[in-house]
Amino acid sequence: MGLFKSKSCPACGGKIGMPPFRVADNVKICSACETMLRGRYNITIRGAGHYDELQSLDIGKARDIIDGMKREQRKDIDAYSGRYGNIMTVTDVFTVPEEGLDEGGSEIAALKGRCAVLGFCEAGSFGKNDRVLFLGESGEREAAVLALVPCTGAYSFETLLIAGAHKNTVGANANAWLVSDIDRKDIRTGDKIVRA
Ligand SMILES: [Zn+2]
Repeated sequence: MGLFKSKSCPACGGKIGMPPFRVADNVKICSACETMLRGRYNITIRGAGHYDELQSLDIGKARDIIDGMKREQRKDIDAYSGRYGNIMTVTDVFTVPEEGLDEGGSEIAALKGRCAVLGFCEAGSFGKNDRVLFLGESGEREAAVLALVPCTGAYSFETLLIAGAHKNTVGANANAWLVSDIDRKDIRTGDKIVRA
């Protein structure tokens, strides 16, 4: 009995399923917590190998990040759910790199230099071709989602984008990289992306 006793996740208190995910010092967390952190802690390529940054994250830091994300999620749902069923918070802003994109075909190559964000879906879902509203300091801006790549523990944004075999949607409590036609200067970390 003892051998299979289920332990609770030290980051959220939830149940740890199989297989567990291991962060620094071999501490096991649940898959829901792994999903929340995925994207902020990503797969990187070092030489010939893939390295998973999430495996070296300290559990105390993991808990702080997850607590902060859940707090912001509750706040945003309170503030926006009356008008919008789909809410995402922007956690990073970057530019789609040029390198390698031609390998993905003309549709992917056309995304070079576009503004991309890492977003945490707080409510509802988002997908490719959605018309969305960016809410930020510079006001409300309409944009089209040109590509959406769910964050996974297997590949980086660039690898997934070029391969093109990923899902085109993301649901609540998960992260995705989203490429849109918004101008990068109009968007910052902490801004919201919403859709009715
Ligand atoms: Zn957990």
